[in-house]
Amino acid sequence: MYTRIYFFRFPKDTSDKPIIYHLIKRHEVEVNILRADILPQREGVMILELRGAKNNVKEALHYLEGLGVSIERLATRVRRDDERCFQCGACTGVCPVDALSIRRQDMAVIFDPDKCTGCGQCVLVCPVRAMEMSLGREWFDLEGSRTSSGVSR
Ligand code: SF4
Ligand code: SF4
Repeated sequence: MYTRIYFFRFPKDTSDKPIIYHLIKRHEVEVNILRADILPQREGVMILELRGAKNNVKEALHYLEGLGVSIERLATRVRRDDERCFQCGACTGVCPVDALSIRRQDMAVIFDPDKCTGCGQCVLVCPVRAMEMSLGREWFDLEGSRTSSGVSR
């Protein structure tokens, strides 16, 4: 099963469209909503985990692009601070896709960003916060604008 987590930014004219329904029914993709901030007639952001056949996920992304949705793999926001990492190996036990693994020859902990889905499990267990995930300014700018405009969530 192909699994990837994406950061989506939806234009405001998509806020009333049944997009999640189409992803599931038309593209046969499982959708796990990890975080969402969408309001009617407002630009919105969502973090979604998509699961399914690789082609189905790619076609689902193509469908979203056609709606003007900007898409970014959350994994691109996962970083390891190599100066902080002391190679304890704790993160390798929780990574579900072996993006973090121990190289037997020298017992070094290797991070492979290409395999990373962006699930964030390593961020939670790393004792020195060497694994980091940044949601960037977009998310917080949006939340800040809602707070300042008095819109409750
Ligand atoms: S848990 Fe943190 S310190 Fe330990 S190997 Fe992983 S990134 Fe490095
Ligand atoms: S966020 Fe961390 S635990 Fe999750 S897939 Fe990426 S490296 Fe593995």
